[in-house]
Amino acid sequence: MCGICACIGNFLCKDFIIDGLKKLEYRGYDSAGISFIDNNALKVIKTVGDIDALSKLAEGVKADAIIGHTRWATHGGVTVENAHPHLSKSGKLAIVHNGVIENYKDLKAQMDVEWKSSTDSEVFVNLIERQKEDCLIRKVISASKKVEGSFAIALLSADGEIVAGRRENPLYIAEVDGGFVATSDLYVLSEKTENYFALENDEFAVLKKSGVEFYDKNGEKIAKKQQKIEKFNKISAKFKNTHMESEIFEAKDVLEKTLDFYLKYGFSTIKIPKNLQEINFIACGTAYHSGLVAAEYFKKIGLPSHTYIASEFRYGNEVLNLNALYVFISQSGETADTIASAKLIKESGCKMLAVTNTQNCFLNQICQNVLPTFAGKEIAVASTKAYLAQVFSLYLFACFLGGRDVKEASDAVSKFEIVDFPDSLTQYALKFKKIIFVGRGLDYITALEASLKLKEISYINSIAIASGELKHGTLALVDNETLVVGILTQQKTREKFLTNLEEVKARGGEILLVSNCIEEGYNCLTLPNCAEDLMPIYSVVPLQIFALKMCKKLGFNPDKPRNLAKSVTVE
Ligand code: GLU
Repeated sequence: MCGICACIGNFLCKDFIIDGLKKLEYRGYDSAGISFIDNNALKVIKTVGDIDALSKLAEGVKADAIIGHTRWATHGGVTVENAHPHLSKSGKLAIVHNGVIENYKDLKAQMDVEWKSSTDSEVFVNLIERQKEDCLIRKVISASKKVEGSFAIALLSADGEIVAGRRENPLYIAEVDGGFVATSDLYVLSEKTENYFALENDEFAVLKKSGVEFYDKNGEKIAKKQQKIEKFNKISAKFKNTHMESEIFEAKDVLEKTLDFYLKYGFSTIKIPKNLQEINFIACGTAYHSGLVAAEYFKKIGLPSHTYIASEFRYGNEVLNLNALYVFISQSGETADTIASAKLIKESGCKMLAVTNTQNCFLNQICQNVLPTFAGKEIAVASTKAYLAQVFSLYLFACFLGGRDVKEASDAVSKFEIVDFPDSLTQYALKFKKIIFVGRGLDYITALEASLKLKEISYINSIAIASGELKHGTLALVDNETLVVGILTQQKTREKFLTNLEEVKARGGEILLVSNCIEEGYNCLTLPNCAEDLMPIYSVVPLQIFALKMCKKLGFNPDKPRNLAKSVTVE
């Protein structure tokens, strides 16, 4: 992951970089750093910790060319030495890098350098420096041909030039206040400019105070067209405590916006195979869970449907169907495994659809067929409102394909309310060492998502299981230190599910029920009612709040879960 922000020009570079890195922090926050020119030499300031810590260290820095980085470590632990930027052997070149250089060990073995870090990125900057070409841009292009893997990079030379380039990971260039910027995310440019250039794979840019030039992989100068930034609509940030809290409480606005858009514009621009026989979803993490819910919706309109974990799919042996639609779900549209799967499908000529929350992302470019979601910018690492937007948009799409009316959807949105997770139940749940979420059908998928949310931000040992499966193994985990959270909104399996809960009770496990029906004899959180198919939207929100409250009670920051980052751009 990692975020890059580099700028050159006559505006307040340092403030811009710190502000930019703060906006990029969701991409990685284990360490951060900047490099700039001081007395004709490159200087580096870096630290383990967040951008506030970096900002303090960088107080008083005045420079008109700076490269900055916020890191999510892939190679080398979280230490100051491994934080970016990294200097080359001569100290005349500094790099910030997002991505993974897969052949870094082979390259390293060929170089005589006293290594300061364990990163692949330090190898890259030295490889660049060793190239024979006469100027930095040509050295960068030449070195890029020798590296395998992915990169977005910005290099600052002691001569005061910035060279940027990318392969697989995003990088955008823009003019801001007469200076030039390279950044991993358009969000950095919001409220600063409306225009940007998107670098394509193996394209490079030279940023000077006087202007910017673009190059292709052969070193030929190319002309690039500016694109317009869509407004980042934070819908209604009523709750400012943490991004996650604010994003959970945007749920209703997101649902309304989704419904309004699709009622107005429909789905007629979406290309589907003429003889559509099946619809398959490919995604990671929370988006994978949206895919699981969506598959149930499409099965209900009679279309065979499967959901795959992208990192499995891309190396698996799935038999592709030219009459199937392959749907890739990713909030950021940058998720590396999902993108790799999409590229694979593209080669086969099958029809593809991207479900993304980000304008002009790679996934949209690859699929050329997009179903946008309207969650607004999601910053918190743990996805909440984007999940709702994905599930609800795909529900509406299924209604469209199945010729069903959307009255139930309108009702569910108008009656939607945020159900808080009571503090008393949070306090009760804190007593347990492990938490098992159970459900059946759509409730099982909600259980998967609730469990993911809980472990993501509170680090509590938690799993989710289809309740009918408990007795086939997992029941062995149940003891008096186990809380079983049951989700019950699906009537078809109600009795069977309640029997499964009794089996837990009989073995000393305690139960907390989240349900839209009142069941005697359980600690119960009662949900409002809507059409059964849409209950995953109603039931997931209090469970997101449950994870949030557990996280806060345990003293963690929900926006920065340990070991994680948003937009997983590495495999
Ligand atoms: N591989 C680099 C490092 O570990 C960059 C990591 C990334 O982009 O996530 O420092």
